Amino acid sequence: MNLPVTYDLPLAPREILRLQGYKRPSDIPTPQVLAILEEAVREARRLLAPRHLFDIFDVAEVSGEEIRLAGKETLRFAGARSWWGDFRQVGLGVLTLGGALEGRVDALLEAREFPLAFMLDAAGWVAIEEAALALTNTICNVHIGRELKVTARHSPGYAGWDIWDQRVLFRLLPAERIGVRINDYCVMIPAKSLSFGVGIGPAAKVEQTQKCRRCDLRDCAFRLAPRRAALPIESETFLARQGTWDRLLGRP
Ligand code: SF4
Repeated sequence: MNLPVTYDLPLAPREILRLQGYKRPSDIPTPQVLAILEEAVREARRLLAPRHLFDIFDVAEVSGEEIRLAGKETLRFAGARSWWGDFRQVGLGVLTLGGALEGRVDALLEAREFPLAFMLDAAGWVAIEEAALALTNTICNVHIGRELKVTARHSPGYAGWDIWDQRVLFRLLPAERIGVRINDYCVMIPAKSLSFGVGIGPAAKVEQTQKCRRCDLRDCAFRLAPRRAALPIESETFLARQGTWDRLLGRP
């Protein structure tokens, strides 16, 4: 399915720092740490190459243990009804940021440039979450215009979904086209990749108003609630460093 996704990833500096252990308002990064963060964000922007595949499959039957798709494949997603409600189709996707960022992290580790390596790696994890949000918001936008709801995203290995179903996903989706494969343990390569499924249907289980509140898709014509406001900046020190944040976020 062709989806017009805009991967305009913010690479939220706070999220990157949170993954580095700066979790509370009192966890203030030093100017040196902010400089490393800035460099990592700059490198990440250069290296990220998001690509995705997404396709939709009709559901033949859902039991407590599995989803049988029309055709031959079965997804061993126990309790799918309780997560996704009355869904009629399953959308399956694979998303990747490519391998360049990981290659650069490996090179930095080799050169013992540990702070930048770990910061860049964290930026990659933030980027894949942001890219997944952009992709799933677009999937929602495309379907809600047809009066079809799209549930929250789940992945093999989580919430009752058998990890070995990665093999099913990779049989159904030609992931090699976007440069992703799985190894014998169902781990994706490159690692900054994500596979997922969503339930789709007119009565699929989703609290649409809450979903819209969290959604950053600015131009969605079907929005039911305003976007959640940006989190307030809690500490004086953070306020004092607003210039740095603005620079990191690319604001004029
Ligand atoms: S604003 Fe609401 S309806 Fe539109 S894509 Fe986002 S979640 Fe879906």
